[in-house]
Amino acid sequence: MPSEADQSQECPECGGRGWVIVQDSGAGTARRCECRFENLAPRLLEGSGIPARYRNCSFKNFDINAPSPADKDQLLQAKSISEHYVEGFLKPEGGFTESGLLYIGSPGVGKTHLAVAVLKSLIERYRVRGLFVDFTALIHQIQSTFDPGSPESKRDVLDPVVKAEVLVLDELGAQKPTPWVNEILYLIMNSRYTQRLPTLFTTNYRLDSGPAADHENLDRAPSSSSFQLLSSRISPNLLSRLYEMARPVAIEAEDFRREVQMQKHRF
Ligand code: ADP
Repeated sequence: MPSEADQSQECPECGGRGWVIVQDSGAGTARRCECRFENLAPRLLEGSGIPARYRNCSFKNFDINAPSPADKDQLLQAKSISEHYVEGFLKPEGGFTESGLLYIGSPGVGKTHLAVAVLKSLIERYRVRGLFVDFTALIHQIQSTFDPGSPESKRDVLDPVVKAEVLVLDELGAQKPTPWVNEILYLIMNSRYTQRLPTLFTTNYRLDSGPAADHENLDRAPSSSSFQLLSSRISPNLLSRLYEMARPVAIEAEDFRREVQMQKHRF
């Protein structure tokens, strides 16, 4: 990425300063030059923490052509819900939507791909401060702050996660649900909920059939019992908070990576 100085030198308006003076009755008022906003999206994407292997994920390259019609339907519906979410992200009365999405399905079906496609679209379209966090990596990062020599505190690690305008929390439930892990998750979810900040979750665990039975979107959740219940991985209070925070999006297709490998062997 070019440096800020390189970017602004290309701007004939501000001549590299990043500020322009708008005439008024006095000495003029300084305001941010438009070039700073033009360059904002690449900078926000750069700082979003999207891992290299997912950086190219988009709606365009999300393949819905599964061999089975049922799988194809699921992929199409998951993609369409995601695209509509981006469309409806700005509320008519102003501000961002506060609810998020919860992608559910077994590993390799494209949950993270879609969550990243949403995050990137939101950054590019609305210039939101978005952040991608893998839950397991986050837990390890927080644990490393307990080291007396650590330059970071627990708060340094958690603050950006709690405050991001949009957060992707990848692999919910992947960590062994110790009281400490649940406490961290509660802190993140509760802070974001009370600040009305949207979160996109992905999980390999299916929804509980207990308190979720009333949830309007439960019929979209995977019915397969081939993967474990999310309720065995997070506490009941977190689960009910999750239902309030995010709309479930089920993807019950074949593992995309395995499919790609199988196609390669067929030819
Ligand atoms: P999950 O999060 O469900 O475990 P990922 O999103 O990590 O799965 O998908 C694994 C890999 O396969 C990623 O590189 C992703 O881009 C790719 N992938 C998965 N599903 C699709 C799809 N429908 N179209 C294009 N690529 C896909």
